[in-house]
Amino acid sequence: MSKIVYADNNATTQTDPEVLEAMEPFFCELYGNPSSIHTFGGQVAGHIRKARESLASLLGCEPTEIIFTSCGTESDNSGIMSALYLNPERRKIVISKVEHPAVKNLGSELVRRGYKVEEIPVDGKGRLDMDKLKQEVNAETAVVSVMWANNETGNIYPVREVAQIAHQHGALFHTDAVQAVGKIPMNLAKESIDMLSLSGHKLHAPKGIGALYVKRGVRFRPYIIGGHQERSRRGGTENVTGIVALGKAAELAEKNMKLENTKVKALRDRLEKELVSAVPKTRVNGDTESRLPNTSNISFEFIEGEAILLLMNQLGICASSGSACTTGSLEPSHVLRAMGVPYTAAHGSIRFSLSRFNTEDEIDYIIKSLPPIIERLRQISPYWK
Ligand code: PLP
Repeated sequence: MSKIVYADNNATTQTDPEVLEAMEPFFCELYGNPSSIHTFGGQVAGHIRKARESLASLLGCEPTEIIFTSCGTESDNSGIMSALYLNPERRKIVISKVEHPAVKNLGSELVRRGYKVEEIPVDGKGRLDMDKLKQEVNAETAVVSVMWANNETGNIYPVREVAQIAHQHGALFHTDAVQAVGKIPMNLAKESIDMLSLSGHKLHAPKGIGALYVKRGVRFRPYIIGGHQERSRRGGTENVTGIVALGKAAELAEKNMKLENTKVKALRDRLEKELVSAVPKTRVNGDTESRLPNTSNISFEFIEGEAILLLMNQLGICASSGSACTTGSLEPSHVLRAMGVPYTAAHGSIRFSLSRFNTEDEIDYIIKSLPPIIERLRQISPYWK
């Protein structure tokens, strides 16, 4: 396959060439252990410090509030488990119905371990039921975890208000900001978010590096117990190349934040508008009033998303569908089901997620290629006509 049009950036992103360049010396030249006493190893610690400062600058927090981890999933698990460990008398957690499996499946596991886990519903646009949230958060609740932005629809959630509700009842507030960091500005010093998770590979750093923000003054219990790394909050020799990469990616994200919200947003808006006007029986899933600038989730009714993906794939277009093949049958995603998207639409949903590396030409290519694919599939669909 020659031409690749990558519109699946919520799954993972291209490592920025500048990030790769920043990492390179740490493989064969500066490969020392940052904990070593000798200068050769010790000098690496300075580069970790710089990366931590760059990430703190992107988040608007103190460098000491950042713990480097291996990924978003580890950050989510560490934050939530710490809150439960430190508040053993509180046996309840409150999450939303549209969390990523990193939080949702941890919730299911916690139910098996005897905790009460309440999933707050969303409406047809994926907006959180705030009244239900207020009813469910109480003196039993150790932690409330609601994502900052949804990976499938791009919906942005009112984390400030949710944090307030958690605090009114003495619960901690954690947010999975894996999709939000680098795409929308944030200033954590001004928020009352206790813990926040992020992942490098969603913002043009490589896979295998993440971070957990823990607000100063919030107690934290390590999830990975070992050496004194990360001020004894996460054991294990540091992933130096990953940390340096995340620092550089954060620096570039801060520099390009305006671009995300102008160029990338304009590309997304044009793609969405033209596809919806070119193809009959489509619907945009999510809250178009409060959404990430790069994400568009469109349902092409009466056909299967997976079939659309396969035909797009033949043309080199990469995107995701809102249904997943589990045990041989196509199941719409839990996010679209929670939103009550009708069966015929949920099955034909496609998520396009762009980045600053996408071009106008690529958007033209998708706009030109997709309508004939939809037409072809509808002609053979038993549900169409
Ligand atoms: N949370 C959200 C919202 C995500 O989109 C993802 C990845 O898709 C994760 C958590 C997990 O991140 P990681 O792949 O770094 O474990």
